[in-house]
Amino acid sequence: MNDALVIVDMVNDFVTGKLACPRAERIIPNIRRLADAARRSDVPRIYVNDAHVPSDFELKIWGPHSMKGTKGGEIIERIPARKGDYILDKRTYSAFFETSLDSLLRSLRVEDIVIVGLHTNICARHTSADAFFRGYHPVIPEDGVESFTEAAHRDGLDYIKTNYLGEITAAEDVVRRWK
Ligand code: ZN
Repeated sequence: MNDALVIVDMVNDFVTGKLACPRAERIIPNIRRLADAARRSDVPRIYVNDAHVPSDFELKIWGPHSMKGTKGGEIIERIPARKGDYILDKRTYSAFFETSLDSLLRSLRVEDIVIVGLHTNICARHTSADAFFRGYHPVIPEDGVESFTEAAHRDGLDYIKTNYLGEITAAEDVVRRWK
């Protein structure tokens, strides 16, 4: 088993700030448990967060959010990064796009990436696509990702499962797998 836990966009603006998502509350304790289990079993933890600059194309759609160097772009206090965790910046949906994630995963010999965070149908989906294109296996705990609506969440899970061979699972099952 060569897993990594990739935590996407669990920053203030996505949870309670500019793009607040009340449905994210449900996944916070699950992500916390996954991160703790990963630390206990030496599974790499990689936070990948939007760190936008004003010229970023994506801001035309969403408005300014998770801007680099702002409080809104900081990881939420309830899922703090700890010593030994990796933190990467990204500038659009995919955690792979023009980031060092791929080379990091390769150096760690990772095969399966457990993707959690926001949003199921946007960043988790695009990150799963890029994982699939590069030969990684995306594993998605359905209670570790969320969207603005139940329909968007379900839609994201279905898409990842159908198109990227995503394994849709539960946080508890992943915690058990890392014991
Ligand atoms: Zn963004």
